[in-house]
Formats: sequence, C-alpha cells, structure tokens
Amino acid sequence: MGNKVYDVAVVGGGIAGYTAALTLKNFKKDLLWVGVKPFGEKLPKAEQVRNFPSFSGNGVELAALLERQMVLEEVPFTKARIDGVYASNGGFLLTSGKTGFNARSVILATGVETETAANASEYLGRGVSYCAVCDGPLYKNRTVVCELSSKSYAEEAEYLAGIAKKVYVFCRDRGAVFRAENIEASEDVIVGIAGEGRVAGVVTESGKTLAADGVFFLKDSAPPAVLVGGLETEGGHVKVDRDMSTNLAGLFAAGDVTGRPYQYVKAAGEGLVAAYSVHKFLVHEKSFAGAKSFSVRS
Ligand SMILES: Cc1cc2nc3c(=O)[nH]c(=O)nc-3n(C[C@H](O)[C@H](O)[C@H](O)COP(=O)(O)OP(=O)(O)OC[C@H]3O[C@@H](n4cnc5c(N)ncnc54)[C@H](O)[C@@H]3O)c2cc1C
Repeated sequence: MGNKVYDVAVVGGGIAGYTAALTLKNFKKDLLWVGVKPFGEKLPKAEQVRNFPSFSGNGVELAALLERQMVLEEVPFTKARIDGVYASNGGFLLTSGKTGFNARSVILATGVETETAANASEYLGRGVSYCAVCDGPLYKNRTVVCELSSKSYAEEAEYLAGIAKKVYVFCRDRGAVFRAENIEASEDVIVGIAGEGRVAGVVTESGKTLAADGVFFLKDSAPPAVLVGGLETEGGHVKVDRDMSTNLAGLFAAGDVTGRPYQYVKAAGEGLVAAYSVHKFLVHEKSFAGAKSFSVRS
C-alpha cells in the first residue's frame, strides 16, 4: 500500500463518477477516479437516449462524446474494482485486492446492481431493461413483462401499461394493486429469459414460458452497505442529504446508488453537487470533523 494520500477518491466509472471527477479536476484537486470502466457498462447498451439535454442518439455515441471530453480535459482514470472502504488516519483507505489507495474524502458513485434472472445480462439493450421511463416508449402496442421487487414499483408497471398492449407483472409483494386493465399480475418468479439474441419471452419458476417483446426488472439492490461498513442506507440506496453527504463525515454519494430515478441527468447532477461538497469539505475539514459520526467496517 502506497503512502500517497489523495484529496478525494471517486469510486465508479459511470456518468455520476465522471461528472464528479471532471468537476474536481477543474477545482484542481488531487484526484483518484477509480472504476471498472470509464462511463460504466450501461451507457453503451442504451438503444436510444432521448432524455439527455442537447443529445439525441444511442449510448455508444454518447459514450464517444464523453470520452472525447475526458481526453480533452485530461481527467485521469484508474481501472480497479474497490472491494472495501475503511476509516484510516482521519481519512479513508480504499482496497482493491492487495492494492490500497488513501484519500481524505470519497464519493461513492457505484450505480445499482440489479438482481435478475440468471441470463438477463445477456439481453441488456436487446429487450431487457431496468428503466420503464427510458425504454417503455420502445414497446408501444407490444407485450412486455416486468418483475417488481415491491409494490412501490406499481406505478412504473402502470406507466408501461399506458404504452404497451399487454403487461405481465411478476410481484411477490402481497397487496400490490395495479390500476390498468391490460396488466395481468402473478406471484410467480422469472428465472430465465428466452430468445435467440433478443428477448422472445420469459421462463418462470413454475415452468411456464410466456411470450414477450421486452422484460423490465424494476427492483433495488443493496451493495453499498457491504462496501462501506456503517454506511446508512434506505431501501438499498445510500441515504444522502441535499449536498450528497452521507452519515459518514467525508464520504459522499451520487448517481443511481442514491436512489431513483435511474437517469443520466440525475446522476450527472448529483456528481456535480457531490464534487462541490467535497471541495467545501476539504476547505473546512476541521469544522466538519465531529459533526457526523464515522464508524469503521468490522
Ligand atoms: C440498457 C439501459 C438503458 C438506459 N437508458 C437510459 C436512457 O435512455 N436515459 C437515461 O437517463 N438513463 C438510462 N439508463 C439509466 C442510466 O444508465 C443510469 O441512470 C446511469 O448509468 C447511472 O449512472 P451512475 O454513474 O450512477 O451509475 P453506473 O452507470 O451504473 O456506473 C457505476 C459504475 O461503478 C462501477 N462500480 C460499481 N461498484 C464498483 C466498485 N466497487 N469499484 C469500482 N467500480 C465500481 C460499475 O462497474 C459502473 O461502471 C439506462 C440504463 C440501462 C441499463
């Protein structure tokens, strides 16, 4: 483990992490932007991006524009998967296998990992989606399936029902009510996606195969609390204040990891706010210290 201490470590290569890193670069901070891949794995899979101001095109095109800017602005990227964030010497130690990075502050921008049917990732951008608002319009008058982790996503299923001809909803949350005639609800579970290269339907736990043009997984996951011990979460998302601060002093979060809506613009905006908050934190570090509790992962 090296002795270097960065001003800030931004964890996550998606658009939230990138916007935070770009802003912190402009603030001339000593920055570690670390992630699996610049701009994340999701962006190139977006079939059509229709809600990003001044841009119209697919995810590959948007990623190319971002990459051009990243090179022009000389935003440094370190390829690594962080497996733990710990309190250390008044700051943080981030570990990646046997490698360690030290930083005075951290922005967590790790996105969401969605629990899915075993082979769902093979169909990302080819009929499988995690965002009803983003991809719903692609299924006008078609048949879609959606799996809801809880009844709190009923509204999104209803949104799809306003576009699609038929919506099969899988939700084990008892008491879920759907206010649309073209929704057929079931407590069965999707265990696999069927189709040659593109979604043709789903296979369920009870052994049924249901024909469908698209499958939506509308659910949360909770990896951040595993990554950072003591981090307060709510419904699987990192709990943040308006300045993107968490319950741990010096640790901020941005993007999908803080909650819905899962959208580029929201992620980018939060990345920017988190960067400003880090700037303020570093300037006034002493006055922040003690204002919030910090607990160490056991
Ligand atoms: C197919 C598809 C189409 C979409 N279309 C649209 C659209 O049209 N419009 C729209 O607004 N939104 C769309 N979205 C949603 C959009 O992709 C997300 O809202 C956005 O990517 C969130 O950005 P983020 O930076 O918060 O997270 P992510 O983009 O998920 O990036 C997080 C990154 O952090 C990395 N990471 C996670 N854990 C670690 C770790 N421990 N160490 C290092 N790195 C880590 C991940 O590998 C990932 O690269 C779409 C999503 C999908 C899947």
